[in-house]
Amino acid sequence: IPVVAVVGRPNVGKSTLVNRIIGRRQAVVEDTPGVTRDRVPYDANWSGRQFTVVDTGGWEPDARDRAAAIAAQAESAVATADVVLFVVDATVGATDVDEAAVKMLRRSAKPVLLVANKADNNNIELESATLWSLGLGQPHPVSALHGRGSGDLLDAVLDALPSPPPITEPTERGPRRVALVGRPNVGKSSLLNRLAREERAVVDAVAGTTVDPVDSLVQIGGETWQLVDTAGLRKRVGKASGTEYYASLRTAAAIEAAEVAVVLFDASEPISEQDQRIIGMVVESGRAVVIAFNKWDLVDDDRRYLLSKEVDRELRRIPWALRVNISAQTGRAVDKLAPALRTALDSWETRVPTGQLNQWLTALVQETPHPVRGGRAPRILFATQAGTRPPRFVLFTTAPLDAGYQRFVERKLREEFGFEGSPVEVSVKPRK
Ligand code: GDP
Repeated sequence: IPVVAVVGRPNVGKSTLVNRIIGRRQAVVEDTPGVTRDRVPYDANWSGRQFTVVDTGGWEPDARDRAAAIAAQAESAVATADVVLFVVDATVGATDVDEAAVKMLRRSAKPVLLVANKADNNNIELESATLWSLGLGQPHPVSALHGRGSGDLLDAVLDALPSPPPITEPTERGPRRVALVGRPNVGKSSLLNRLAREERAVVDAVAGTTVDPVDSLVQIGGETWQLVDTAGLRKRVGKASGTEYYASLRTAAAIEAAEVAVVLFDASEPISEQDQRIIGMVVESGRAVVIAFNKWDLVDDDRRYLLSKEVDRELRRIPWALRVNISAQTGRAVDKLAPALRTALDSWETRVPTGQLNQWLTALVQETPHPVRGGRAPRILFATQAGTRPPRFVLFTTAPLDAGYQRFVERKLREEFGFEGSPVEVSVKPRK
């Protein structure tokens, strides 16, 4: 999600403008002398385009050099932004402080829109043309308070934003796509047969969807699921077909085609290197994951104990994966698969609202700040969720974070928001 930063001197109306952009009145505090407001992000939407507005109200009224303080603020906001709204008071015109800030803004390659705020009437609007002198191009006259000109400004913001990623989601979604993977003989074919038999229907076609002939449609838990690339499993009799090399290519392709992977293990045997390789593929793919320990009918108490040890050791990379203990042969707990798949997919598609995310983050970094490094501690300024499937977060920071601290934030993120069954990506964007 792109970031739009609002910068400008105190009292030019930044907060009012942010309120106008996000379309509500209460959230944003006015500049109060003595109150330092740090960068606060808000979710915004114009003409269906989502973006984050960062209100950079923070300023130091006591700063001896106010121009320098404003410039520093502008500098850090620009570093994290895709577009900068530089707000000037049209009733006052360009001041020295504005000009100092403009120097900083122009050093960046970021697009800057000049907002001539408080243009409440035609006269002020006409006068705002003198702001061309700032060298930021055409001033956009706006009355943040009354709304005048704000639509045109937002249109200009959309034009300046990087082009949106192409929409990959089909509007009408077919069945969810599941890959059934695991090394030979863990029971993939048996599970497929069980699913097809239990529900008495391998659905051949669902209205309005095209299903690859190598896929199978099955009913699990009252819902139709598309098991991708099961042709080999369906037709196979006995021995695994092809070499391990081709089997692993096939596995990779199935995972790629799926949204969620069910990784089957033979619970009666030790977790092997080949199992590990498949886990590795699934983790790399960023897909949601359900782990199914099959052949549970063969697991006695001793084996169960050993398995729990193996899981701790071998599945450290995916402690978040959901696990079910099933038997394709007896049908044990096969009905647990559907809820696990649904939970994993829900997590995979979770979007945390920016406000909620930053509320949590502010509390977290207050309680446990980044350790001091060479006399200074990097600070996390704010976070946004950049995407879903799987959830991807970006932390905007003053400097790169220690790997340990980043992992800490990731762990806490999971503790707070769950994401059971889904990987979560966290990246850090230090300001330049
Ligand atoms: P695939 O290679 O992963 O497709 O594995 P198959 O489905 O061909 O199963 C391999 C062997 O394990 C076959 O002999 C199955 O009968 C057996 N098998 C599969 N699932 C179970 C199970 O839940 N319990 C037991 N005891 N055997 C199973």
